[in-house]
Amino acid sequence: MSPAREAAGIAVSAGSTGQSALVLDFAHARPHNDTSTEFHTEDGPFTLVPLSGQRSSLVWVTRPHRAEELVRLSDDELSLIVEERMQSMLGRVTVEPGRQVFPLSSALPRRFAANRVALVGEAAHIFPPIGAQGLNLGIRDVESLLDTAMRHSDDPGSPAALSAYDRRRRPDILARSSAVNMLNRSLLSDMLPVQLMRTAGLSLLGAAPPLRALFMREGLRTGSGFGSVFRV
Ligand SMILES: Cc1cc2nc3c(=O)[nH]c(=O)nc-3n(C[C@H](O)[C@H](O)[C@H](O)COP(=O)(O)OP(=O)(O)OC[C@H]3O[C@@H](n4cnc5c(N)ncnc54)[C@H](O)[C@@H]3O)c2cc1C
Repeated sequence: MSPAREAAGIAVSAGSTGQSALVLDFAHARPHNDTSTEFHTEDGPFTLVPLSGQRSSLVWVTRPHRAEELVRLSDDELSLIVEERMQSMLGRVTVEPGRQVFPLSSALPRRFAANRVALVGEAAHIFPPIGAQGLNLGIRDVESLLDTAMRHSDDPGSPAALSAYDRRRRPDILARSSAVNMLNRSLLSDMLPVQLMRTAGLSLLGAAPPLRALFMREGLRTGSGFGSVFRV
């Protein structure tokens, strides 16, 4: 809901995904070994992100009414449900104070820059928290913006500079947004072929470490995974 984007007259396509995220931190009995784990459930991803020590952060995407039920539970009830949902993989769970519920939406502006305004981060792209793509995409926006500004140092807000920024960011942002939205929709879909395709793709990645490394590199920076293969 960027006021700068609105002032620049940049239109946005936006809508709710019909999901909410319950977000909290918790302590656990077993070490996480600095590994992030994402369970794909029929209502959305259930993602564990390691914090320092034997603590992790949880992003549990589910239907809005379920998130509202969960957030009202006592600490003991919620700790048990969280532990069961992750099949006790981190042992006994103790949720910490400070849980929150976020309604989830997707948004994509028609342009990424206009009228002396360039968009970065969530002003330029919002999608569901699945596959951990949001922050890296925002960092690449800033990197491109700095580089474009340096190339147009006489007037970094000129139409030529902003068009160059828009052209540079468009493929990366469109590709990530559509891939993440598609992966999220495949979780919510009841269609067996869609479920099978997602399961087969992820199983292949799980079974082939070089392929997994390629996708992880590509996840960090567009072209650094697939680009390096095609150059060879
Ligand atoms: C539940 C959830 C889980 C996520 N998990 C991941 C993940 O695991 N990995 C990942 O890469 N990404 C994740 N993301 C996405 C990630 O959080 C965003 O991509 C990132 O925070 C975007 O950064 P930003 O600076 O654009 O926006 P924000 O982090 O939202 O920062 C915007 C800031 O501007 C402030 N602000 C707003 N309006 C005004 C105003 N008028 N004046 C002054 N200040 C204002 C806000 O208070 C806020 O502090 C997740 C998002 C959500 C909602």
